[in-house]
Amino acid sequence: MRKKVFITRSILPDGADLMRAEGLIVDISELDRPMTYEELKSKAHSYDALITMLTDQIDEAFLHDNSHLKVISNYAVGFNNIDVLKASALKIPIGNTPNVLTEATAEVALGLMIAASRNFLSAERSAENGLWKNWHPTEHIGFALSGKTLGIIGLGRIGQRLAGMCAHAFNMKIIYLANSEKENSLSATKVELSELLANSDFISLHVPLNNSTKKMIGKAEFKSMKKNAVLVNTSRGEIIDQAALINALKENLIFAAGLDVTDPEPLPKDNELFQLKNAIVLPHIGSATYEARRAMSVLAAKNIIAGLKGLPLEAWVNKKDLLP
Ligand code: NAP
Repeated sequence: MRKKVFITRSILPDGADLMRAEGLIVDISELDRPMTYEELKSKAHSYDALITMLTDQIDEAFLHDNSHLKVISNYAVGFNNIDVLKASALKIPIGNTPNVLTEATAEVALGLMIAASRNFLSAERSAENGLWKNWHPTEHIGFALSGKTLGIIGLGRIGQRLAGMCAHAFNMKIIYLANSEKENSLSATKVELSELLANSDFISLHVPLNNSTKKMIGKAEFKSMKKNAVLVNTSRGEIIDQAALINALKENLIFAAGLDVTDPEPLPKDNELFQLKNAIVLPHIGSATYEARRAMSVLAAKNIIAGLKGLPLEAWVNKKDLLP
């Protein structure tokens, strides 16, 4: 019998085309919103495999109810929305989409560094609101990137790519926090968190969200940062204590923040972050290039094709747990 795959949002079609060419039946949600937990839990009963989004909560109860699934492929590199331990216990392989979105996400981090440090948002708003009366010698002044120190929290794929861009294009000095020393050609130095906070002009977050990273940047950490520091987050919103961030921006404990991710998402439009002149908030667009999203679509599909054949996934999150 032909195997059935369900994709929980309409994504770029390359992956679905590939799966259909392999003889799979592919259905795609027609909703222009994430499915509710209950909708997806019951929908999954009729399928052999799922391509899920980071907004789909695949928890213990979901997996227990859908233990027939042969493979789940998350359309993201982060997989904090999936209870991977439970999936392993049920022998369900979990895939993700690393590498193919590294460039796109590092570009957004760099963009946020520039936008936040050079006041793009408040300057654009003032022009749009008719406050651009003449060229002004002292308005909208920010800080340069060139020659500054960038502190990277989590020197993995995206963190390393950003480090390369900043070292090569802006001659920035790179310091980083990681679980282990990372070999690199950038003379990047591993430091303790306290040293990173005290010495960085720019801080960019690239750790995955888990129990050890949740709210790792809070009140005490903001107090330790330089007053000219620019904090960028393209990882996950929950890594920052957002109330402490809002306070730090209001009290000018730091210069500015550039956020691609928030807690919660979507961020309600009356959230204080939207009122602040020194915060720029993007609606989680890190991987949103045609190049990355196409490649994610294909990689997510390749994971499904392999999983349904009982073969190793190309990007396999719980490989260690499931390989004999
Ligand atoms: P990655 O290659 O796995 O890098 C994560 C790095 O974080 C690893 O090098 C890891 O170090 C380090 N790390 C983990 N826990 C740490 C801790 N407690 N302290 C210090 N370092 C720690 O992942 P990636 O591909 O760069 O992606 C990073 C994250 O970006 C994803 O998890 C996802 O949440 C987010 N993301 C967001 C978007 C977006 O659209 N905004 C797009 C893509 C990814 P070790 O290797 O030494 O353990």
